[in-house]
Amino acid sequence: MPSLFSRILAGTLPAAIVANDGPWAAFLDIAPVAPGHLLVVPRYEAPLLADLPPDVLAALGPFLARAVRAVRAATGAPAVNILVNDGAAAGQAVPHVHLHVIPRTTGDGRWTPPHGQTGTDLAPTLAALRVAWR
Ligand code: 5GP
Repeated sequence: MPSLFSRILAGTLPAAIVANDGPWAAFLDIAPVAPGHLLVVPRYEAPLLADLPPDVLAALGPFLARAVRAVRAATGAPAVNILVNDGAAAGQAVPHVHLHVIPRTTGDGRWTPPHGQTGTDLAPTLAALRVAWR
């Protein structure tokens, strides 16, 4: 069974589509955090970002930049949050990769990820990450 977002991209479910003619598509979130809240979705169906094929990942940068420019221009917002809930434990509700582009204005009162505490011992995870990176 194709995912919810695959069905939207195939036109079998309705959505407010902005772009849908390449490896990535953009449509409005049905429950926007703010007007202009856009979802950027690959045609290739996979739950996790890192599972996308290299050519799809390579196409993401230019498409995302275009989506951000469009959201800023259409809404007048000077800034956006770009958010990926990459896996169920991170809050992903639809298991098909998607990036949220959410317009932000100064003092809009919307949620911004809190900073952590300085003074955390970074060494153990730094070592693990350097090994994992290889
Ligand atoms: P997640 O929590 O997986 O990162 O985000 C899923 C997003 O998909 C939510 O913001 C939700 O509002 C949006 N969404 C869920 N169902 C639909 C739908 O049928 N159409 C559209 N356009 N957005 C949807």
